Amino acid sequence: MLNERMVGLGSQRSVIRELFEFGKIRKAEVGEENVYDFSLGNPSVPAPEAVNETAVKLINELDPVVLHGYTSAQGDAGVRQLLAESINRRFDINCTADQLYVTVGAAAALCCCLTAVCNPGDEVVVFAPFFPEYKVFIESAGAVMRMIPADIEAFQIDFAAFEAAINEKTKAVIVNSPNNPSGAVYSEETIKKLSAILSAKSAEYGEPIYLITDEPYREISFKNTVVPYVPKYYDNTLVCYSWSKSLSLPGERLGYVLVPEKVEDRALVYAAVAGAGRSLGYVNAPGLFQRVCAMCADLTSDISIYETNKEILVKGLREMGYHVVEPGGTFYMFPRTLIEDDIAFCEKAKDFNLLIVPGSGFGCPGHFRISYCVQTEMVERSLAAFQQLADFYKKN
Ligand code: PLP
Repeated sequence: MLNERMVGLGSQRSVIRELFEFGKIRKAEVGEENVYDFSLGNPSVPAPEAVNETAVKLINELDPVVLHGYTSAQGDAGVRQLLAESINRRFDINCTADQLYVTVGAAAALCCCLTAVCNPGDEVVVFAPFFPEYKVFIESAGAVMRMIPADIEAFQIDFAAFEAAINEKTKAVIVNSPNNPSGAVYSEETIKKLSAILSAKSAEYGEPIYLITDEPYREISFKNTVVPYVPKYYDNTLVCYSWSKSLSLPGERLGYVLVPEKVEDRALVYAAVAGAGRSLGYVNAPGLFQRVCAMCADLTSDISIYETNKEILVKGLREMGYHVVEPGGTFYMFPRTLIEDDIAFCEKAKDFNLLIVPGSGFGCPGHFRISYCVQTEMVERSLAAFQQLADFYKKN
């Protein structure tokens, strides 16, 4: 008999993938330019030229045995040294190479952290709206997901609900700021309050509650929005990072876990993260792109297009009567649907060739996600379709 859970996970396509497949069929029918595909979070701007130049240089100049060989499980030592220097420069902390564990993207970083800290039956708190894969990762680590309903006014944290949910089984809390799908950035006040509650609860239960900060969108923040560096506020923080979005490299699968100096029993926690990577069969993150990412760690793609798209959509949608909480970053926004049933709403949107994702899958019904990592010209043309959708509900 097969593992039923795995059969289930492998057979059900996610709502987002379903939409993406629908989009492909629709584009063949009505022409690519007539479908407004806001379904996927695949960056639309290319990686900086330095990424390809560095890759080519490494391919031409590095000893091929080293280039294509295994690296240390935790990542090449030189790579981790460069990364530590970049992190220290940018976030004004003092981390070292031996606190970094290079991973196959943020997904693997999260799986390593969760597997490292959780024992069967432990609980992991997530805040709605949340990245749907968290449930898969948490359950794969043998833990149970506890969802805190969304604060739909600002997409910060409903602290009363959070405090009520924490108990002696709470092992970790995942935060994702800038957030997929809302685009919200947690303010310093939110992070401080969260840290104070976690410190008090850890002391009460005599065990650390880990704060796992999932940060693939850290660099994509708008205007004067400050994205607080979480380890500065809470000691037992594990940072999960990725270059999928900031350098537009999702297919290369590169990220890291940082176990900062102040984490209680840091060496043991780091060993558990490495042990989790080993038990999950990651062996090491891709060698060539470990080096490329480390050498380009201070760069980003030209992410300014996301802010341009955000401005056009927020203004346009509000004028049509949609309720939108203005994103502080990412390339997502999460407006309210014009009827209660977000699934029916997104189904109707398909009639106008608009591909948008229902909020239910993110633990927040009554909303829809727009993934605006697309060409600005497409965003501009899509406004007419959003208007038609709004008009349809005004009439019916
Ligand atoms: N966390 C969030 C919030 C994401 O949106 C994503 C990808 O979209 C991931 C993690 C996984 O990213 P990666 O490609 O680095 O595995």
